[in-house]
This record gives sequence, structure tokens and C-alpha cells, in this order.
Amino acid sequence: MLVDSHCHLNYPGLVEDLPGVLARAAAAGISHMVCICSRLSEFDAVNAIAIEHENIFSTIGVHPHDSDAEDPVTLGDLLARAAGPKVIGIGETGLDFFYDKSPRDAQEANFRVHIKAAQETGLPLIVHTRDADQRTIEILTEEAANGAIPGIIHCFTAGAEVAKTALDLGFYISLSGIITFANAGDLREIAKTLPLERILVETDAPFLAPVPMRGKRNEPAFVAHTADFVAKMFAIAPEELARTTTENFFSAFAKAEMR
Ligand SMILES: [Zn+2]
Ligand SMILES: [Zn+2]
Repeated sequence: MLVDSHCHLNYPGLVEDLPGVLARAAAAGISHMVCICSRLSEFDAVNAIAIEHENIFSTIGVHPHDSDAEDPVTLGDLLARAAGPKVIGIGETGLDFFYDKSPRDAQEANFRVHIKAAQETGLPLIVHTRDADQRTIEILTEEAANGAIPGIIHCFTAGAEVAKTALDLGFYISLSGIITFANAGDLREIAKTLPLERILVETDAPFLAPVPMRGKRNEPAFVAHTADFVAKMFAIAPEELARTTTENFFSAFAKAEMR
């Protein structure tokens, strides 16, 4: 039993074939999935998938890429949607200084309002951070002074300092298919040092398919490849990795009761 802690089932490439995608996930032993919201305008579609399927959860959030694509999201926008019965996290949100698709000040303001929503609801913040280590650390540290932030660094690719800050704040760290890529040696060196009880696995499907599916459209079933790889990396049995990451998932996302 594995959980895909981060996927985008409403995106083209997956949504047209949802029954097939879910059947293959079930066959691969994926018990639960989290369909992640990345725009306010996307929330109804994301949440509908979660409402229709018992083993799928949703989130509410605006991706850093879309920080200025819509009217700035308000705390009220997030809190109203976070109250939904299947909504288990706040995000994805954060900073992406690699693509810089939105101005950095808009990304930072967007990030901070999500942090407040996580603090207010107790739902974990799902952080996307790319080429923005220093500001991610600064903002999380500043905001944590106002109260605990439950959270996850999703699709972890950052440096050791971000990992340390995140762990110190009590965050979980989610590994995606990137960990399996041949050129991800530096990432693996950091990942190996993470405590197993704080690790999650995810696909970020339809993006970032793990080896040996690299280059294909990703889907939740493929999280099994990432999990196998991570188990080998930690020199533990795949069953132990699956059990631990599943327990971690239900600790990180406490609103998603194990059924
Ligand atoms: Zn992301
Ligand atoms: Zn994502």
C-alpha cells in the first residue's frame, strides 16, 4: 500500500482517462491519492474528483506560477474552501524563481497568505520551492515566529539548508520521480540524510515520470517506481518504505483518516 501524496488528476493527460488511471493505480497498490489544486479557478474540478472517489483527497491553493494570474488570493478564499470535507491541505504554494512566471513579490505575498491559512486551519502547507532556497527559508522562519506551521516540502529538489529548516519546523519532505534521475546525485546525497519518519513519496503527475518511465506521461501508479528506488536508497525493504511513508502521510495529513 502506497500513497501518491501529490498529483494533478484534473490536468490534461490524466483527466481524459481517469477510470484507467485509477484502475492502474489500484493494481499497483496505490491506496490513496491527493489531487492538488494550483489555481482558485481549478478548485471545483479538483475537489469534485475527491468528492467522487473515496480514496482521493483534494487541497486548496494557488501555485507560485499563478500568483498574479488571478486576483490575489485572500485568506477568506482559502479558509472557505479548506472547510470542505475532502480538503486536507493548503497549497500548492511557494516560490519558483527558476521559471519566474509571476513577479517575486506577488509570489511571496501569495506564499504568506497560504501560510496563514495553514496556521489557522491546522492543515499542512504544501510548499513548492524551486531555485528559491534562501527566501523560502526566510519566509518560513519569519512566519513560524507567529505560530507553528504544519507542512510538507513537495517534490523536494532544494538544498540541505532548506531540508534542515523544514525538518526543524516539523515538516515532512516529499520525494518525486526526480530522485530517480541519473543527474540527481546531489539530491540523493541530501535525501539519504533525511529521517525516514519524515519522508513522503509523490508523482506530481502528469509531470516528472520516474525512471524507468522517464519522458512518458506520469500517473499515480508510477509512484511505486519512486518508492522502490527510495527503499533501495535507504537499504530497506520496499514493504517497509511503503508502510512508513503511508503512516507518515496520515500523520502529515491528519484530516485524511486511514480507512
Ligand atoms: Zn509543484
Ligand atoms: Zn504539483
